[in-house]
Amino acid sequence: MAVIVTGGSRGIGRAIATRLAHEHDIVVNYRSDGGAAEETVEQVESAGASAVAIQADVTEPTEVTALLERTRDTFDSIEAVINNAGIVEPAPIEDLEPETFEEVVATNLTGAFSVTQAAAPDLREIGGDVVMVSSIGGTAGTVDASYAASKAGLHGLTRSLARELGDDGVQVNAVAPGPVETDMNDEIVDYLESVEFRGHEGIDTHLPQYACEPDAIAHSVEYLIENSYVQGEVLCVNGGMQFR
Ligand code: NAP
Repeated sequence: MAVIVTGGSRGIGRAIATRLAHEHDIVVNYRSDGGAAEETVEQVESAGASAVAIQADVTEPTEVTALLERTRDTFDSIEAVINNAGIVEPAPIEDLEPETFEEVVATNLTGAFSVTQAAAPDLREIGGDVVMVSSIGGTAGTVDASYAASKAGLHGLTRSLARELGDDGVQVNAVAPGPVETDMNDEIVDYLESVEFRGHEGIDTHLPQYACEPDAIAHSVEYLIENSYVQGEVLCVNGGMQFR
């Protein structure tokens, strides 16, 4: 049995893969950086688990099908899917090209739908888990319209699938991080500094006292998998930036 971590080649996905490696075999999915994915595989193996890196763009349904087939061939069954793959292409609404909006939604939301749909029969069979890696953007509207819309969509997907797949014992939850020290966060900080965006003022006055490392998010994912009574939840992990 294996856990599929989409976007497992770096950042939060790598942290999730290496933390879950204490108890689970891991599929390290990635889109483009095979070298980085192999580094994650090495880290998982050092922790004692088996791992394989599988290239698949989650926006391409045929590649998602191939990802699931290779996972079944390698590990027989799938015990969990962590929908972590994500992108950010921030722009003010006036400059946001419809194609860019669609690309962000296709990756962050439709990609999570596609991988979960493809894994659903396996997950129903064993009462597995799904965890969406969302964002404070989905609850507070931060970064830009495309990112926030894609992450808010994940919350609806989480709750709907918790009801639907929950009938067969599948747990579906989301974790919504605030800023985390990764390549993506560097992009977001550069963008926010480059635009005069007063919508963030209320949030920025409550910045956490210290930066969030990717393992804090991985720890939350581990908790959601291990706790069998949390269902349909969006767990906010943001150091107090926003209360709900
Ligand atoms: P990151 O460092 O930019 O890594 C993104 C990962 O997603 C990479 O492994 C990348 O693979 C993969 N990916 C991107 N598009 C893909 C696609 N179409 N198919 C398959 N894989 C794809 O980002 P991160 O900061 O770790 O973010 C991980 C998740 O956490 C994202 O969903 C992000 O929205 C969320 N998040 C991040 C923060 C933050 O501050 N960092 C805060 C809240 C939420 P390649 O490198 O191979 O392209």
